[in-house]
Amino acid sequence: MADVLEIRPQESAEENAQQMTDGFHLVIDALKANDIDTIFGLVGIPITDLARLAQAEGMRFIGFRHEQHAGNAAAIAGYMTQKPGICLTVSAPGFLNGLTALANATTNCFPMILISGSSEREIVDLQQGDYEEMDQLNAAKPYAKAAYRVLHAEDIGIGVARAIRAAVSGRPGGVYLDLPAKLLSQTIDAVKAKQSLVRVIDAAPRQLPAPDSVKRAIDLLKGAKRPLVLLGKGAAYSQADKEIRAFIEKTGIPYLPMSMAKGLLPDTHEQSASAARSFVLAESDVVVLVGARLNWLLSHGKGKTWGNPKKFVQIDISPQEMDSNVAIAAPLVGDIGSCVAALVDQVGDDFPQPPKEWLDAVSEKKNKNLEKMAATLAKNPTPMNFHSALRVLRDIVKQNPDINVVNEGANTLDYARAIIDMYQPRKRFDSGTWGVMGIGMGFAIGAAVTSGKPVLAIEGDSAFGFSGMELETICRYELPVCTVIFNNNGVYRGTDVNPTGGKDVAPTVFVKDARYDKMIEAFGGIGYNVTTPEELEKALKEAIASGKPTLINAVIDEAAGTESGRLTNLNPQSAAMKK
Ligand code: ADP
Repeated sequence: MADVLEIRPQESAEENAQQMTDGFHLVIDALKANDIDTIFGLVGIPITDLARLAQAEGMRFIGFRHEQHAGNAAAIAGYMTQKPGICLTVSAPGFLNGLTALANATTNCFPMILISGSSEREIVDLQQGDYEEMDQLNAAKPYAKAAYRVLHAEDIGIGVARAIRAAVSGRPGGVYLDLPAKLLSQTIDAVKAKQSLVRVIDAAPRQLPAPDSVKRAIDLLKGAKRPLVLLGKGAAYSQADKEIRAFIEKTGIPYLPMSMAKGLLPDTHEQSASAARSFVLAESDVVVLVGARLNWLLSHGKGKTWGNPKKFVQIDISPQEMDSNVAIAAPLVGDIGSCVAALVDQVGDDFPQPPKEWLDAVSEKKNKNLEKMAATLAKNPTPMNFHSALRVLRDIVKQNPDINVVNEGANTLDYARAIIDMYQPRKRFDSGTWGVMGIGMGFAIGAAVTSGKPVLAIEGDSAFGFSGMELETICRYELPVCTVIFNNNGVYRGTDVNPTGGKDVAPTVFVKDARYDKMIEAFGGIGYNVTTPEELEKALKEAIASGKPTLINAVIDEAAGTESGRLTNLNPQSAAMKK
């Protein structure tokens, strides 16, 4: 009898425990119910157990050293997969670090969800001074596409579903989900909890264009004398690769890819007008924008860059994008796959091909510029410069067309974008819409984890500094990331001097001859220090073949590099400094 009496209470406690669950479990269940299998984040109060539980429940948790980079990894994962990337942070400062990435994701139209633990509402709202107290929901709102807070465990399922749909439907963007500490430990009946889970059906529904807008666009194209197609990262995101290729090839129109749309069609495609960019932008008369905004990256669609007056067809999922900078003659609102397919349907054998004079003029300009570039790339100056180093990287990417390329910096970004051809869609990830520094290691980790394929991160020495500590993360997860640092001893270059002759170096100058390769060795990765294109090539081949975390410190001429790369017009210098 005694035995039975001892056992019974234990059994009934277990039975009870099986019938109850809590907020922690429910958040994980809600994500898993929507096929989300990876969380990027950084643990601490109150979300450490959430990360532990995610791992215990079979999800992948990738822990970072700073939330901004976890957020960037989540954002690029969202861009690559059309599923929101998840970033998990602690409250207040951790949340704010993640918010930078959330704002960047929203700006770039990448779907991600930033989930942050937060302090108790009662204390925050009365401003009574809680641990890491902050009104995170309101802080997130201006920088997110949507922001939600869940207060009751039974609403976790609907909260996660709402966040997923907001992130990926229509124009994708960043969503903030606020989870107060108290919510996570709330218990709830397990059956009720299960019933509260929501699997989102058709999270990003197709949006078909209206037939009359398709006709308007086709009529405009039929009358074009010098047509041009411009592919943006929205086109790459939409994964309408086949439709886009069919449209370009059936119409015979020359096209220009924006930087992250490179590879949507191979950059070596004969209709690519990249090498004649300035010419086609200025000379074209009808331009079809496919998932590309007329923002600063395209000189707002006006001015000298755009030369001749022209008419625009714009394909975008956001109706408000139309007429944002210049008048759009033929707006085509809908998802890119549906819009482009509707155009292809109207392009029969009788569809007029672009006039021969236009195509000849484009290829003449293109060939001339390609020859000029080939001559520049063939030079072998000592010390090595951007061009001779990038020649090597260009060849490596050609030999490894499925490698993911991450690229940031000023000159390193501008030159690499122009010199390195891409061959496959969604393989190039860079500073994007803001032209921001600091995405490097976060994007590299996100791309490696998401694709399982190698990553080549091409970094200016200044740009690398923003996320360099994540080398430890790369080594910890043994990711096949090869980071190449273009080291010219400073921001833009390393030759500036302090005009006063004082002890401090100039604001743009770093420690001379820094050995970034030693940093990765501290974490068990492999470092290389190279000073010539031959050494760079050997190191790169070895690094990529190894599949291990590697870093190549590529020493280039410290006088190479212009102020702000190609953005000199955005960097007003004082009259005194110009003298
Ligand atoms: P880029 O910087 O390459 O020029 P942008 O980020 O400026 O590209 O533009 C991307 C555009 O693509 C945004 O206006 C966005 O609304 C749009 N977009 C994103 N996804 C889709 C989609 N699936 N269908 C249609 N438009 C999309």
